Amino acid sequence: MTTDRTVAASSSTRDDRRLRIVLMGAPGSGKGTQGRLLSRKLGVPTISTGDLFRDHLRRRTELGVTVAGYLDSGEFVPDVITDAMVRDRIGLTDAVGGFILDGYPRTLAQVEALNGFVGEQRGSITAVVALEVDRATLLERMRTRAQAEARADDDPEVVIRRLEIYEAETAPLIEHYRSSTRVITVDGSLEPARLSAMISSRLRARE
Ligand code: AMP
Repeated sequence: MTTDRTVAASSSTRDDRRLRIVLMGAPGSGKGTQGRLLSRKLGVPTISTGDLFRDHLRRRTELGVTVAGYLDSGEFVPDVITDAMVRDRIGLTDAVGGFILDGYPRTLAQVEALNGFVGEQRGSITAVVALEVDRATLLERMRTRAQAEARADDDPEVVIRRLEIYEAETAPLIEHYRSSTRVITVDGSLEPARLSAMISSRLRARE
């Protein structure tokens, strides 16, 4: 597997070389796909809070039972639960070289919690990658995904609710990050492989 450690080395702003990427974008903007492609290129795991929660649901763990109602309705799981899960996950050995976050942080409180966790690692967020996709494309993608994956939260009413919550709570975080962190904005409607190549080259370039 070809990995690109130069990205980590050139983008490190503090004393460590971990690559810490935050993928941001509305539901259906392609964070999952880009997370998978970038993970292969960069050699660090993608950590998707949605996938972690769905895994708990499938295994019917105590956490899964607690979060089921939130996932079904498209509402956010309380920060205290989500933050603890992320903190544990980024501390696992496969994340020693860094990580790509998909679906976290989604609230200002989560941004602050994440800053605390990476601060404990004596590091910082390398970059935020913001995927921009227009609403019509998002709705069409989620309609297709609902057919393919039968996700309860891809039900049309829940989709609208998730988009509203994204606009109200999460989209403003991109602006918030701009004051402290490099934000790379890309067109999420591009073909996935092309988009992934573009993101890695923008990560490598010193902007
Ligand atoms: P996703 O697959 O990222 O769209 O997430 C699916 C669902 O998991 C969301 O609609 C929320 O119910 C829950 N979820 C995922 N990430 C978070 C987060 N960072 N904060 C709160 N809830 C989350």
